[in-house]
Amino acid sequence: ASMQPAAAPQDGPGGPSPVHGVSETVVGVLGGGQLGKMLCQAASQMGIKIAVLDPLQDCPASSVCHEHVVGSFSDGDAVREFSKRCGVLTVEIEHVDAVTLEKLEAQGVDCEPKASTISIIQDKYRQKRHFSKFGIPLPDFVEVDTSHSIEKAGETFGYPLMVKSKRLAYDGRGNAVAHKKEDLSSVVASLGGFEHGLYVERWTTFVKELSVIVARSRDGSMVCYPVVETVHRENICHVVEAPAEVSDKIKKLATSVAENAIKSLEGAGVFAVELFLTEDDQILLNEVAPRPHNSGHHTIESCYTSQYEQHLRAILGLPLGDPSMKAPAAIMYNILGEDEGEAGFSLAHQLIRRALNIPGASVHWYAKPEMRKQRKMGHITIVGPSKISVKSCLDDLLQRNTSNPS
Ligand code: ATP
Ligand code: MG
Ligand code: MG
Repeated sequence: ASMQPAAAPQDGPGGPSPVHGVSETVVGVLGGGQLGKMLCQAASQMGIKIAVLDPLQDCPASSVCHEHVVGSFSDGDAVREFSKRCGVLTVEIEHVDAVTLEKLEAQGVDCEPKASTISIIQDKYRQKRHFSKFGIPLPDFVEVDTSHSIEKAGETFGYPLMVKSKRLAYDGRGNAVAHKKEDLSSVVASLGGFEHGLYVERWTTFVKELSVIVARSRDGSMVCYPVVETVHRENICHVVEAPAEVSDKIKKLATSVAENAIKSLEGAGVFAVELFLTEDDQILLNEVAPRPHNSGHHTIESCYTSQYEQHLRAILGLPLGDPSMKAPAAIMYNILGEDEGEAGFSLAHQLIRRALNIPGASVHWYAKPEMRKQRKMGHITIVGPSKISVKSCLDDLLQRNTSNPS
């Protein structure tokens, strides 16, 4: 019973108003980027009200949310004020003020997933230590805080050596590779120095990167989405193929690692588990996102219940939906900014025009106020009867020459 979401604060003095829709609870979302926007779109379909806290007046979610509060999700006062208008608080980004969330939770505010989960995940080193404690397979890692300790780590793990910022990482910003001992000092400097908090990971020569989205409801029941393959370009997720072309054995292993990882964290919602598949068929966990994820965009068109609807169902204590695919194959292509300003918009526009001519393709444009290089501006999902067919549609879209199959 303690798992029931709190009644929305706008309920009259006579107590909660009778539930006449899917849910009367106002969902508060910290962050109003594209993930927040797609959460709002799923909410709108079900008549669920979302309030968004984001500092940008014209953030992607602002055009589709029920209410946009302009303020920073890393500002404790702003988060505290914002929480008063919400029945349940959730996130579309993990870089929020987790200390304030912990205090709010202690005062009875319903946060899903739990503040403890956000705290663990937002510090990637702490996250790695946490999963290692729970026996989840990971690349070797160690904290580094002096040039002596990073040189020692280089000797132990060898080169290339992956150096990572503990905090505020996204889209590979916060990662840098040292190819030899002599690179270490410049790599450390490029990440802002040791005082920002760094750790290193053994380089993983993976065959594929995989991702599994796990949903957990308030009562603890879990469902997993089909394993997908994520293809990164310069550390940024670029293409997602669903389902992944790996054996059933690997699918099972990936799903069980993902499930075990999420079992070690508290709270309801969807979680994305990024994985490496190694040459010797091991699955290693890269990192977890405590929220809907880029690798699950395709679920909007390709699954019975999208990851966004699933997240809302999970945090509101509604029955979880069916995560399975309703089409044989899907491919998702991220539209990354290729140029600043108008030139970038023009390139994206040409791509979108071509996509609109491809059967089975859906265009998502986030309407971010500014175009920047390597920024995620939108995405295109192509759903079709087979992997070959959706891949060839993507080749057409990207005007790749496929007359010469290899
Ligand atoms: P996200 O946008 O997913 O939050 P991030 O900035 O947190 O990304 P990571 O997920 O740590 O960055 O790494 C980004 C990419 O870099 C990975 O998807 C993978 O391609 C590569 N990578 C990360 N760690 C390693 C490693 N130990 N060995 C080899 N490649 C790695
Ligand atoms: Mg990350
Ligand atoms: Mg990542």
